[in-house]
Amino acid sequence: MKRYNPQQIERKWQKVWEAKKTWKADIKKAKKPYYNLMMFPYPSAEGLHVGNVYAFTGSDIHGRFRRMQGFNVFEPMGFDSFGIHSENFAIKKGTHPKTQTAKNISNFRKQLKAMGALFDWSREVVTSEPDYYKWTQWLFLQLYKMGLAYKAKAPVDWCPSCKTVLADEQVIDGKCERCGTEVIQKELEQWFFRITKYADKLLKNLETIDWSERTKIAQRNWIGRSEGTLIDFKIQDTKYKIQVFTTRPDTLFGATYMVLAPEHNLVDQLKSQITNWQEVEAYRKEAKKKNEVERTEVAKEKTGVELKGVKAINPANQQEIPVWIADYVLASYGTGAIMAVPAHDQRDWEFAKIYNLPIIMVVCPHYPAKICPVMDEAYLGEGHLVASGQFDGMPNEKAKWEITKFVGGNRTAKYHLRDWLISRQRYWGPPIPIIYCDKCGTVPVPEKDLPVPLPNVKDFRPTGTDKSPLASVEKFVKTKCPKCKSPARRETDVSDTFLDSAWYFFRYPCTELKNKPFDKLTVKKWLPVDMYIGGQEHAVLHLLYTRFITMALKDAGFIEFEEPFKKFRAHGLITKEGAKMSKSKGNVVNPDEYFKQYGADTVRMYLMFIGPFSEGGDWSDKGIVGISRFLNRVWTLVQSSSKSQSSKNELEALRQKTIKKVTEDLENLRYNTAISALMEYLNAINNQQSTVNKKDIETLLILLSPFAPYIAEELWRELGHNDSVHNQLWPKYNPKMIQEGKTRLVLQVNGKVRDIVEVVSGISEAEAKKLALVNPKIKKWLEGKTPKKLIFVPGRLVNVVV
Ligand SMILES: [Zn+2]
Ligand SMILES: [Zn+2]
Repeated sequence: MKRYNPQQIERKWQKVWEAKKTWKADIKKAKKPYYNLMMFPYPSAEGLHVGNVYAFTGSDIHGRFRRMQGFNVFEPMGFDSFGIHSENFAIKKGTHPKTQTAKNISNFRKQLKAMGALFDWSREVVTSEPDYYKWTQWLFLQLYKMGLAYKAKAPVDWCPSCKTVLADEQVIDGKCERCGTEVIQKELEQWFFRITKYADKLLKNLETIDWSERTKIAQRNWIGRSEGTLIDFKIQDTKYKIQVFTTRPDTLFGATYMVLAPEHNLVDQLKSQITNWQEVEAYRKEAKKKNEVERTEVAKEKTGVELKGVKAINPANQQEIPVWIADYVLASYGTGAIMAVPAHDQRDWEFAKIYNLPIIMVVCPHYPAKICPVMDEAYLGEGHLVASGQFDGMPNEKAKWEITKFVGGNRTAKYHLRDWLISRQRYWGPPIPIIYCDKCGTVPVPEKDLPVPLPNVKDFRPTGTDKSPLASVEKFVKTKCPKCKSPARRETDVSDTFLDSAWYFFRYPCTELKNKPFDKLTVKKWLPVDMYIGGQEHAVLHLLYTRFITMALKDAGFIEFEEPFKKFRAHGLITKEGAKMSKSKGNVVNPDEYFKQYGADTVRMYLMFIGPFSEGGDWSDKGIVGISRFLNRVWTLVQSSSKSQSSKNELEALRQKTIKKVTEDLENLRYNTAISALMEYLNAINNQQSTVNKKDIETLLILLSPFAPYIAEELWRELGHNDSVHNQLWPKYNPKMIQEGKTRLVLQVNGKVRDIVEVVSGISEAEAKKLALVNPKIKKWLEGKTPKKLIFVPGRLVNVVV
């Protein structure tokens, strides 16, 4: 008997599949296109992480399942090879990113091929190649033409370690998403994409797409729509007014002071009126030194300075109220000014307590009380209005819009979402295709001149200034203005990595195109993507950007849909002994070692068995042995059973049930329970060894093939088939057969067995009792007596007591 040698059979089938281009999708002719996409990896390490193998296996099983259901599955793979991740790895290694990236990619590719996935290598995408980034630059130009790309001076987040600015989405709890360093604020001129223009659509469309709920929630929170009112407060004896945005216009009568961000323009405009200017100026200087996180920290002691000589008028009751500056109000959020209602806002409450400002309750929880005592902290709940003139007694929700009307406020929505900052002061990215001319100003590079090649420079390290290393490459910087031909300078920032990955799925089916990034008809045929699987950590980065870019491309007329992914499923994380894997903890699982020891089939299956795919699980070296044993038993079964086949099929009901279970589990990415069902099925077959039926073994191999493609193929051929197991249609089950599984029912009279009959398994109590009473043997033992009671034990017996 041959032994199971995974390394040998995996190498063999890899070669066959590669030579025959078995997984190549026919992009032009496919009748039932199915685009199965997974998040392509950053080749920012020498090899694949086990987390990559986990994600890709789960996605590949889905692709294989759909393929066997008769779809023309396109499952491409590529490399997100530009960007800080890859550049930092090269810096660490002391090599050039170009050399390092090429090296990493070739190793990744080798490992990915070993995985036994459906990857169509004829359509690989590498984002750092000129034939790809040419189109990333083209995309920038389209957005520029549409007015969606603009340059502006703004306070931006800067990572002192990565030495570049970051987008809002890349700052997590005040730290750099990539390296964990605390970010600082800088005032810089940067390129932005106007993603906020799509805020409403990005929010509303979430209702129409089939995505993991937790991913949708993360996007909803990030977009952060809040409904409120814009209200103007006049500044007494001036032409100026302060505009505020508030979500609580119902509390307007309780606004007892106002606060401007220290940077607010009005402060300068009111200079002549302010009597304590020196104090104000000193405070503004101090505020500049703090970053947003420090300024908005909840626990922080609030500070501020009153603008003496300035009074605002509360438009609800025409009362004069003081105006302050305080650093807990940020210039970049809302209008940079607030109406302070200390009775109903905790930060205003704390500020009012420190500076002895009046606190007036206007929303009262003790209806119908007319006066409401001030509480020990801000009251944030519902209630009825008090101290609010004609609105007294009104429920506060209703009062929001009544008071808005009363003061002529403008009901509107605000979003947390900011524009996408896309310039980076780094080397390893696509240069932003813009030229600056003294005469013509900002001039986009003509499309025919793309790509703007990234020059091959020795010193690519970040400078730590607000300039990219490209700024010191004279040959790159100096150019001619495309409009007037006079000497001009190139933009020297490169674009954010997330722009490279925001459109790659358009390129995959169109990689052969030289004169355009993608083709409208091909895209129409294959997109939107049918299934996208990836990490939840990209919920508001990559996944939000792809949606925005798709919407913009639709508005520009290049495509006909506005959502890129019909279905998105977030997978879980793999831990090792309960801890997150990290090099510093020394608990990183290197998939290569396990491929070598157990074979890719075992690694694939073990990863899927470890826990629900949406939740992940904990890797243990003991656990993988169990799966290895299972595949060895499958192997042995086929070796030993081929001679003793029976035509009887005693396991037909279980076979049907297993097909049903595995099919439903695969539909819902419940891979771990599907594998359990296969294990039970194998046990049952093994218990029937002497009369094992060929159909049972074939079904087992077909159901196993998406999980363990190599061994399934090898054993399938061993059964005598000339075609591939992967070309079989997914088996259908007969629901009737499942219900009609047979079981034995014992019939007793007064506890003594009088007959055993075969019945449908899962027979109901009523049916079983009826059956007992009409049974001739039971009738005989009853001797015409009326039964006192019938006892039913489900699936086992009926006892007739007389
Ligand atoms: Zn960083
Ligand atoms: Zn010019």
